[in-house]
Amino acid sequence: MENSCLFCRIVAGEIPATIVHRTATTVAFRDIDPKAPTHVLVIPVAHHADVTALAGDPSAAADVLAAAAKVAEIEGLDDGFRVIFNTGAHGGQEVFHVHAHVVGGAPLGPMLARP
Ligand code: AMP
Ligand code: ZN
Repeated sequence: MENSCLFCRIVAGEIPATIVHRTATTVAFRDIDPKAPTHVLVIPVAHHADVTALAGDPSAAADVLAAAAKVAEIEGLDDGFRVIFNTGAHGGQEVFHVHAHVVGGAPLGPMLARP
């Protein structure tokens, strides 16, 4: 755990979050500023800064993907959803504890807004 990391502190229960699914290695909680009717963040318990670092821990990476699929099932996203890993400056990453955004609950429109 990194004391200065917001999402490590959510894992530790030091900062409140609306948790929708939890395993020994992952936590999934509602985004505080949802961009879709369903917007859940799935994180590994282990601190990895971004998806590149997560890829170096294949077991944690697999657990995050499995948890994302489970969240989609729990949330009833039967008509589809997106899983997004914003990465680095061009990706618009703001929190440097890797997180999969699971978004859905309505048609999501074009994949990307035009820059
Ligand atoms: P990103 O830009 O991919 O790093 O996304 C960070 C996400 O974390 C944003 O969608 C924020 O709304 C969300 N967020 C920031 N603080 C919290 C918090 N305390 N609880 C839940 N979600 C948060
Ligand atoms: Zn962290």
